[in-house]
Amino acid sequence: MNSNATAILLSVSLAVAAYAAPPEGGSLQPGTLPHTWLSGGPNCVTVPDWQVNEYNENFYILRESGCTNYEKPFLYLIFGNEKALLEDTGAGPVQTAPFVMSLLEKWAKKNNHAPVKLVVIHSHGHGDHIAGDKQFQALPNVEFIAAEPAALQKAAGISNWPEGQGSIDLGGRIIDVLPIPGHNNASIALYDRATGNLLTGDSLYPGRLYVSTTEVPVFAQSARRLAAFVETHRVSHVLGTHIEQTSTPYVDYPTGTVYQPAEHSLELTRAHVLELNRAFEQMKEPATVALPDFTISVRAPRPPR
Ligand SMILES: [Zn+2]
Ligand SMILES: [Zn+2]
Repeated sequence: MNSNATAILLSVSLAVAAYAAPPEGGSLQPGTLPHTWLSGGPNCVTVPDWQVNEYNENFYILRESGCTNYEKPFLYLIFGNEKALLEDTGAGPVQTAPFVMSLLEKWAKKNNHAPVKLVVIHSHGHGDHIAGDKQFQALPNVEFIAAEPAALQKAAGISNWPEGQGSIDLGGRIIDVLPIPGHNNASIALYDRATGNLLTGDSLYPGRLYVSTTEVPVFAQSARRLAAFVETHRVSHVLGTHIEQTSTPYVDYPTGTVYQPAEHSLELTRAHVLELNRAFEQMKEPATVALPDFTISVRAPRPPR
């Protein structure tokens, strides 16, 4: 047997070994993501405030229209047997609560299920993710978790912030909560064990990941922990809360763009988490780093808003 044949046999057996590994990820619930999302425009009169993608029947992705607010954030709504979890409440003058509550009602009706309680959590505390907070706080039967480390620690049982992690049980569905401060002091990632989707908020998405110079070491540590997490968990998609990148590598839309007909896909992969970590590891002093699918945008600290 020559060495080529040995190499081929070896690679075949390795492939089989990988395939034959315990199907730890085989039970992940599949879902679909749209090829393109509505951003806003070109004619705002015809654009609905919200676009909903049913990734699958128990995992919804909502996008706010750029016609309502140019940030056009993504929100996530995940259903368990007893509770539904909403990540973020929108940007600008938008009616988020009535829309989300109508989705809960429709979900219950469609599944012949008793109404589930809503838990509201936030990717972080910036204004373009908490605009609808008051609407939810005014509702009965809503468990509202403020975008603050102490409130998150209490709700998810996180004993050490930010090194520890916690979880929220939606009834037959566990969501892991990982503190990843840096972009904001209350930044978290959510990992849905059912689908393997990792929600990374403004800390990783196809666009400009803002961090102030003073917070670079904090963000770097969060990126390191997130990389360690994806090394040990099956990650289907990495889903953030904005798209600012175009479909052309390294090119982003200017801040404030409403209509983005050629934007990047929402979904990133675990490889991007590793790339984020590597970029921080290689950063000798705080400086902006442009990568094909996202940019670490380092800025001078802003006065508190
Ligand atoms: Zn933010
Ligand atoms: Zn944001």
